[in-house]
Amino acid sequence: MNNPNNDIEAHSEEHSFRDTMATADASGKRIWLYPKNSKGKYTNWRNALSVLFLAMLISGPFVRINGEPLLLIDILSRKFIILGKIFWPQDFHIFLLIMIAFVIFIGLFTVIYGRVFCGWVCPQTIFMESVFRKMEYWIEGDWKDRMQLDKQDWNAEKVFKKSVKHAVFFLLSFAIANLLLSYIIGSEKVLQILTTNPSDQLGTIAALLVFTVVFYWIYAKFREQVCTVICPYGRLQGVLLDKKSLVVIYDYIRGEKRAKFKMHESRKEIDKGDCIDCNHCVHVCPAGIDIRNGTQLECINCTACMDACDHVMKTVGLPKGLVRMDSEVGVAEGKPFRFTMRIMGYTAVLVVLLVFISCLLVFRSDVETSMLRTPGTLYQSLDDNKVSNLYTIKMINKTSGQIAVQVKVLSDKGELKLIGKDLVVPSQGMVETAAFVILDKKDIKKTKTDIKLGVYAGTKELETFSTTFIGPVY
Ligand code: SF4
Ligand code: SF4
Repeated sequence: MNNPNNDIEAHSEEHSFRDTMATADASGKRIWLYPKNSKGKYTNWRNALSVLFLAMLISGPFVRINGEPLLLIDILSRKFIILGKIFWPQDFHIFLLIMIAFVIFIGLFTVIYGRVFCGWVCPQTIFMESVFRKMEYWIEGDWKDRMQLDKQDWNAEKVFKKSVKHAVFFLLSFAIANLLLSYIIGSEKVLQILTTNPSDQLGTIAALLVFTVVFYWIYAKFREQVCTVICPYGRLQGVLLDKKSLVVIYDYIRGEKRAKFKMHESRKEIDKGDCIDCNHCVHVCPAGIDIRNGTQLECINCTACMDACDHVMKTVGLPKGLVRMDSEVGVAEGKPFRFTMRIMGYTAVLVVLLVFISCLLVFRSDVETSMLRTPGTLYQSLDDNKVSNLYTIKMINKTSGQIAVQVKVLSDKGELKLIGKDLVVPSQGMVETAAFVILDKKDIKKTKTDIKLGVYAGTKELETFSTTFIGPVY
């Protein structure tokens, strides 16, 4: 009969990896990772995608649509540009909806595809794995060379390689800091800062250097800890993933019991699985984990272990896919991936939100008008059986060109008379003026009448809005 204590001990030993981090020893000291350079089909796809995303990231502040950048997040001036369209704090509701859609998108995406965003799209991973890590391989060599270099005493070779690496890392960090600043204050201002006397721009130069040092520290020292310790998305995986989510997974049914390949000729005859316990999947892992322990918080779904294992399987003449993209249900029951009701519900909400946001973006008015009765005034009775109300008009131009506008009363048979000259709203600016709305006494049926007005640029209607008109009832 089995001793239950033995079972408990075996279980705790099997799950002991859950009590520790792959990157910290028992005393909590950091274990430095030396991931092996990954090669294979998925790595090639990931590299190609990284080049595309890097090109998009770098060109973002420089590409212009109608003279405006693709993306600008000017927090200081509270001005935001998305795909060349300028958004002001008045458009906050659009941002709120975009944020809601984004959160739902992330949730939906994770439920279906697990954490593939982290490994394939996240700028942190792209910069770390496709820029800084590649530089490290290039300067210091592959994992064993780097391990050896770190172990060896300081000599001319080590001083040279470390100096070159950290100089390159610092320059790259400076470039990323400039890129980030271009998204905040615009590429023209960054170019202007870089080409003028530094003593005239001390504040901005200091901010640039702080960003540079932070990026340098992240990519030279902190590295994979960002995904494990800081990133909230990584922490949410336990909530978002279910057993049907696609993840990078080890097929334990096929792989266990693992055993070194040389131990036997025919694995099935001696009751061994396909995993030859070569640890190649662990060596390439940038998070330092063993995917054979199951889905773990640290795994960013980069698929490097899939490439490594496929290569091993091909070499030993076994089918590929021992480590693959699949769901837990898929591995346990051999069931193909299916859309669940939850995924379909998320998708429906996402599509509705995206359509709604697209409509808001496309049909957003170029001007935004507020027209309120001037405080402290009531109505004025005029000689010709008419009544007037005095209004204050504030108009914001959300485009990069000035607009000459006319405001017309659309409801009732009233007219609007501007006090002062024609209304011209400056580019990306605001104008404030006063105007009378005049109605015939016979058209006033209530003390407070709702009136509809329209803003026009020539014959083009830019916006319609409502305000109230006060008058005596005759
Ligand atoms: S376990 Fe595999 S997919 Fe996950 S981070 Fe490591 S190498 Fe990438
Ligand atoms: S690479 Fe494949 S065969 Fe080698 S240890 Fe990992 S899962 Fe097993």
